Amino acid sequence: MEKIQMTTPLVEMDGDEMTRILWKMIKDNLILPYVDLKSEYYDLGLEYRNETDDKVTVDSANAAKKYGVAVKCATITPNAARMTEYNLKEMWKSPNGTIRAILDGTVFRTPIIVKGIEPCVKNWKKPITLARHAYGDVYKNTEIKVPGAGKAYLVYEDENGNETKELIHEFKGAGVLQGMHNADKSITSFARSCFNFALDTKQDLWFATKDTISKKYDHTFKDIFNEIYEAEYKAKFEAAGIEYFYTLIDDAVARVMKAKGGFIWACKNYDGDVMSDMVSSAFGSLAMMTSVLVSPDGAYEYEAAHGTVQRHYYKHLKGEETSTNSVATIFAWSGALRKRGELDKNDALMKYADALEKATIKTIEDGKMTKDLALITSLENVTTLNSEDFILAIKDELEALLNA
Ligand code: NAP
Ligand code: MG
Repeated sequence: MEKIQMTTPLVEMDGDEMTRILWKMIKDNLILPYVDLKSEYYDLGLEYRNETDDKVTVDSANAAKKYGVAVKCATITPNAARMTEYNLKEMWKSPNGTIRAILDGTVFRTPIIVKGIEPCVKNWKKPITLARHAYGDVYKNTEIKVPGAGKAYLVYEDENGNETKELIHEFKGAGVLQGMHNADKSITSFARSCFNFALDTKQDLWFATKDTISKKYDHTFKDIFNEIYEAEYKAKFEAAGIEYFYTLIDDAVARVMKAKGGFIWACKNYDGDVMSDMVSSAFGSLAMMTSVLVSPDGAYEYEAAHGTVQRHYYKHLKGEETSTNSVATIFAWSGALRKRGELDKNDALMKYADALEKATIKTIEDGKMTKDLALITSLENVTTLNSEDFILAIKDELEALLNA
């Protein structure tokens, strides 16, 4: 078979630990034999981030802006333990945070549904897609550890030097303070990308904040969504037979547990971080979830929603066998290649991406899977495969599909 040609490069962001190992296995076995891969490679592994003072992360995000499609491996967000482990110059920020701050936009996360892996919430019959605002709030915060008694203020100074000042708290002793922000422009593009995604996929859109408590901050999110909906989307939603529904975040959580699925749940940045892990693991596994960041200027960054699977990596380093699920990382690649195909009108590339996903799902439905899924599947007589053999089993299916 001749390799599929690409016209525009894909931005490739390599990462850390077990997912870095999977990254190479996926490329070597599932991609490079079939696609003449054009990629601009950025090594976001922690060692190289440290070596470049994290410049590589910023460069990779700018490349994603330039080319429009990126695929990212999971990366370590350093903490105190990583400072010693990797002998870091600084506690570098979360690469995802840095990339999202540059690209802005919304992260859409959808569970990958396969026969034999039933959601543990038994009334969930269809996927629930999380739409996570990817800019601001606690991820772009400023914090102070207050040493002792004193007054804390929130101060805004306009361009002419006029101040607005609010007392936050009069401390009687030590405490903590946090300042955070968001921008109308970013909230607006968050709202539009959610409404567009709902129309594209013909699903209801839910949105929730805590506007009763946060009467200015969260209320602004609610108001912007509502204004844009009324002005630009209401008629389109009615024509498509879908609904936009706003409620309080605690009410939303309660309703989600009772719902049948088949809708998009738009969440502020933090809610989306937490709720997407809950939804994906309830649907089966953190590794059975697709994740794509869609920026307002039309750049797409595909990733796995889980981390670097450190515990498995340490086993791998000791020479022990691992059974790490590579599905989310494979779908990051197929998503990016399909999008590249769409943008470049490259039919062969899009078909290849479809085949890769189909082969992955068929492998699992035929009873060949990694341990995380084998533990929860309702299928009988399954074969539990190690990390590499699972990828090789997918390769067999892929070859059959491509040669059919
Ligand atoms: P994690 O890598 O998501 O793994 C947590 C646990 O979930 C694993 O120990 C494993 O459970 C299970 N798991 C996750 N992905 C799996 C997969 N593909 N196959 C099988 N099991 C899987 O989270 P973490 O260990 O807390 O974090 C490790 C590093 O990842 C941290 O340095 C963190 O900063 C980083 N992180 C990166 C991203 C990102 O780049 N998108 C996101 C989150 C965290 P068992 O051990 O029980 O098998
Ligand atoms: Mg998270």
